[in-house]
Amino acid sequence: MTTPDYHLAPRDGPLILSAPHPGRQLPPDMAARMTQAALDQPDADHQIDRLYDFAGELGATVLTAAWSRYVVDLNRPPDNSPLYPGQFGSGLAPAETFDGDLIYKEGRAPGAEDVAARVARYWRPYHAQLGAQIARIRARHGYCLVWDCHSIAPIAPRLFDGRLPDINLGSFSGAACPTAVAEAVLEAIPRDAAYSRVRDGRFKGGYITRHYGDPANRVFALQLELAQSAYLGPDQRRIDADKQAAIRPVLRAMIDTFLSEAPKHV
Ligand SMILES: [Zn+2]
Repeated sequence: MTTPDYHLAPRDGPLILSAPHPGRQLPPDMAARMTQAALDQPDADHQIDRLYDFAGELGATVLTAAWSRYVVDLNRPPDNSPLYPGQFGSGLAPAETFDGDLIYKEGRAPGAEDVAARVARYWRPYHAQLGAQIARIRARHGYCLVWDCHSIAPIAPRLFDGRLPDINLGSFSGAACPTAVAEAVLEAIPRDAAYSRVRDGRFKGGYITRHYGDPANRVFALQLELAQSAYLGPDQRRIDADKQAAIRPVLRAMIDTFLSEAPKHV
């Protein structure tokens, strides 16, 4: 039986939702080298794809990674240059979890050759597909909108101070999507909604947002890093139905606004 690298639902609208981090799949030989802390997969964007189950109604193409971010991080550049120079960050093939636990048993961490092989085997196929879908959509509509779906624990002391806002929208400070569009998307969150929010705060957009977002060539990209406390239950793994019911219309309003505002700026 072969395991898929990703799940793809191609559709005809101008929007593509990318989710590079919900996957938990590990190749058995890699899993055998990992610690129990890593096998628990604390750093996955747990269930994030399920929050966007309205994608079909919007005609949005959906690309969801199947492999764990511990195999290779699809939202890091293939040369492993840091996303946020000067700050702690997890790399292309991280050695430690966000909490600082070792991912590999002693002496079993991947070397440079192993990481390069992972890029070829696991990183390239996702990006080849994402690039192909963006090209297809742009050919059809004249532009393409990319929404990169992420989530993270709201408290991660090695990554940021204090508590993260609930909704962290990243446009790479306007380089991946015009600021007017990103601002309108943030404004689509109802004022009375109990979600704290920020644009281009700690998370400005990772590799996918920065690499594919190219407003001059009519590709607009936004990243949404959602605090997991906004939709997960106390076990930090399973969806809380009430929280899901509350956040879903907010996500829908933000994406509806992305779809309506972006064409005014292409
Ligand atoms: Zn993520």
